[in-house]
Amino acid sequence: MPKRFINKVALITGGGSGIGHATALAFAKEGAKVVVADVDDNRGKETVKMIKDINGQAVYIKTDISKPTDVQNMVKMAVETYGRIDILFNNAGIPGLPVRLAELSVEDWDRVIDINLKGVFLGSKYTIQVMLEQGKGVIINIASASGITPTPFVSVYAAAKAGVIQLTKAMAIEYGSENIRVNCICPGFIETPMTSVIIPPDLESRDYSHLWPLTKPGSPEDIAKAALYLASDDASFVTGTSLVVDGGWLAGTSLPLSKGS
Ligand code: NAP
Repeated sequence: MPKRFINKVALITGGGSGIGHATALAFAKEGAKVVVADVDDNRGKETVKMIKDINGQAVYIKTDISKPTDVQNMVKMAVETYGRIDILFNNAGIPGLPVRLAELSVEDWDRVIDINLKGVFLGSKYTIQVMLEQGKGVIINIASASGITPTPFVSVYAAAKAGVIQLTKAMAIEYGSENIRVNCICPGFIETPMTSVIIPPDLESRDYSHLWPLTKPGSPEDIAKAALYLASDDASFVTGTSLVVDGGWLAGTSLPLSKGS
């Protein structure tokens, strides 16, 4: 396997579960030193253990990415431990409760915005200062297909993710001349602990071919591969983009016509 990230430091928020966990392992397998940040101590430490079990390097720091002091500490700890931050993966997020807008509480609105949008702002704000001193860096934000296509019953989630897409473009423009690339990934439906609570357990037995051209949901590793591409030198001329990784969901659904003879 090629090792594209030897001597690179990757800071991953929400690294204890799902997409963040898979991406932390993928970076470590390719030689990166990984800082795993999460609110869930057990899962964050488990990610670090799994990385160490494959002879990788990683540390865990408990971080609530909606809290400025936590995020400042996270960035400080990363620099104190490994000396730099080459890659920031702003991944931590929550789905929010599935309700229509009028039933959405103000507290839930604030919580989803604070974690899914303000968290990206805070992670970027404090890490960019380190990247400016280094003279380079890569930021990858996790948005969502829900930030592009209307997604009812998760209106605040969709609004936050649409915000992440615009934030990504603004950051790319503001910092491109200082060698900081900023992109986002818009996953479609990915099987993780987050989605397991909202999707029926018989998912495997159902036919989803009418929803996704590739006929199955994605895995966290599918998103990890996209993140590693965007972080790598293969993407050295890519900034400000939203990479949709959705099995074709946003391409549209097809009419139930026969394939012809
Ligand atoms: P996940 O399995 O729930 O993992 C998210 C991790 O982030 C969890 O460990 C979670 O801890 C942690 N977290 C939550 N709030 C945090 C905070 N304030 N500070 C730090 N960490 C926090 O979710 P996932 O499916 O991998 O999702 C990762 C990202 O992808 C999210 O931003 C999500 O919106 C986005 N996304 C996912 C999908 C999908 O289909 N899975 C699709 C599009 C976009 P707790 O479990 O304790 O909350």
